[in-house]
Amino acid sequence: MSDTVSKERRSEIMSHVKSSNTKPEIIVRKFLFANGFRFRIYDKKLAGKPDIKLTKYKTLIFINGCFWHGHKNCKIYVMPKTNAQFWQDKIDRNIARDKENIEILKSDGWKVLIIWECQLKEKKREDTLNNLIKNLQSSC
Ligand SMILES: [Zn+2]
Repeated sequence: MSDTVSKERRSEIMSHVKSSNTKPEIIVRKFLFANGFRFRIYDKKLAGKPDIKLTKYKTLIFINGCFWHGHKNCKIYVMPKTNAQFWQDKIDRNIARDKENIEILKSDGWKVLIIWECQLKEKKREDTLNNLIKNLQSSC
């Protein structure tokens, strides 16, 4: 019995593509807040539960982990050697789901921005965040 429960629990954990309050998310939130932007996080009513919602700018931001969301041509996105097929299938499903969510949100009139984990590494962070602000200001 307890084994069944733990199996279910395990698959539940595995099915959660996104964990909350990851380090990249916090970097972006702090930066936006410090620059005077006000936003909501994890709006459950929206497809894919976007990490950040800026109503005033009609913009949603997803901050994606490179592995889980299958960032193309990215160094972080490296398949594990064991169970490669399993992970590949899983990530393919995530990519498909992301695409679906973005289409729904765009058709509802949202501008959707994706920030990848690797774009927030120290060397690239400043550029990424400055571009984000430019992007937001242009959609106002
Ligand atoms: Zn990446």
